[in-house]
Amino acid sequence: MLITHDTECALDALVELLNTSPEACGQEALPDLPALRGFVANRELSDVGRLTAADLDAIRLLRARFWEVLGAATVQEAAELLNGLIARAGTTPRLTDHDGHDWHMHYFAPGAALADRVAAESGIALSLVLVAGERERLRRCEAPDCVRVFVDLSRNRSRRYCDSRTCGNRLHVAAYRARQRVAPPPEAELGSARDAASASASAVTTQETPGVGVRT
Ligand SMILES: [Zn+2]
Ligand SMILES: [Zn+2]
Repeated sequence: MLITHDTECALDALVELLNTSPEACGQEALPDLPALRGFVANRELSDVGRLTAADLDAIRLLRARFWEVLGAATVQEAAELLNGLIARAGTTPRLTDHDGHDWHMHYFAPGAALADRVAAESGIALSLVLVAGERERLRRCEAPDCVRVFVDLSRNRSRRYCDSRTCGNRLHVAAYRARQRVAPPPEAELGSARDAASASASAVTTQETPGVGVRT
């Protein structure tokens, strides 16, 4: 699937937004305006004006709508929800090279409210994923004790876990084991493979150490 950098950024923003909801993280992670400002700063959203309580309400409402899209039983239903969500936001496609970035599209009008902007950008990004027949790339983490979502941009859709602190380590270990499966040692090297295996085992142990390899 061809995915541009700004589409990826918009999907990352969507994942972060979804994961702030109580159903994903056990508590409301956007409880107040400072938290909302943190989200904006974290996602490096440019040109966001002064945020108000109305922005907070609107972004939580939008988050609930995106959860509905994720929970849609069919592509048809997801498409209708996305169309509605984008139409309500209104869009103004516009080329920009702000802040030293290369030319890219913004889908929101200058001065748009935060929720409208996220609805347009992330809604269109998710629509492109749907058009490519890749809707399942945005899905829930497989860890039994985790309900967060993530976007899987791996070539063969092999990613299983989100990048939270706990699951990120699982992710690295799983990726390591997958590599071992696809690349068995040639017959002639089986003898030395045992030594390599024990060396690799300690490499895995290192990756399981808290704080190591959490981010991808
Ligand atoms: Zn931009
Ligand atoms: Zn997880």
